[in-house]
Amino acid sequence: MLRRWPLLVVLVLATGCRSVAPAPTVPAVPAATPAPVAAAPRASEATRWIRDSAEHRAIFLQVFRQATAFVEQATAGRAPGTWAVVLDADETVIDNSLYQLERAEAGKAYDRESWRAWIARREATPLPGAGAFLERVRALGGRIVIVTNRNHSECPDTEAVFAAHALAFDAMLCKPDGGPSEKNSRFDAVAAGTTAAGLPPLEIVAFVGDNIQDFPRLTQAVRQQGDEAFAAFGARYFVLPNPMYGSWD
Ligand SMILES: [Mg+2]
Repeated sequence: MLRRWPLLVVLVLATGCRSVAPAPTVPAVPAATPAPVAAAPRASEATRWIRDSAEHRAIFLQVFRQATAFVEQATAGRAPGTWAVVLDADETVIDNSLYQLERAEAGKAYDRESWRAWIARREATPLPGAGAFLERVRALGGRIVIVTNRNHSECPDTEAVFAAHALAFDAMLCKPDGGPSEKNSRFDAVAAGTTAAGLPPLEIVAFVGDNIQDFPRLTQAVRQQGDEAFAAFGARYFVLPNPMYGSWD
């Protein structure tokens, strides 16, 4: 028992010493700084929602079914070939989210040159419900007019995408290269029978689009008006969601 005392004394003294006179601190060796790891570019939430969510598919099917029911009811008894539906193309009938995804993964934004190259690839795909809606309009005797702000020079590639996926249409009214993006004059031409496509005057029974400017005389300014300014939506006007880009952006 006694033989343990010296060790105990040493331990007590050592402990006491530490509290009185701290051992000199050894300069800390700086930890190796990890090489910065660049975050992998990630597509925006908007693009991922469009590409990955069940909700996106559900909404497109829902809207096109509602549009189908409306057109069936609104055109009962009308002579075939006297009426039309007008639709936008991008993010309404065809899906360009792969372009958005590729740009995000490359850490780049939209630009005109890359968009033109994407169009030339003809890789846009049909959106849910669009093809069935177009088929139904045609079966009911309606004309299908696509009013798109793709340029005239891009119209052949756009028509080829529609044809490749059996997306029915009677006229593709593109925007003159460098011309204004407003669509009202083209809507008016459909009604008046003055389009370059040579269609007769047509009563437009429904509009479908993802941008407020896909609907006659509407702009973002309508947001400041009362709900009555939106009365045609769900009845004659059918709007689809596009959180990736638009005149709101
Ligand atoms: Mg669009």
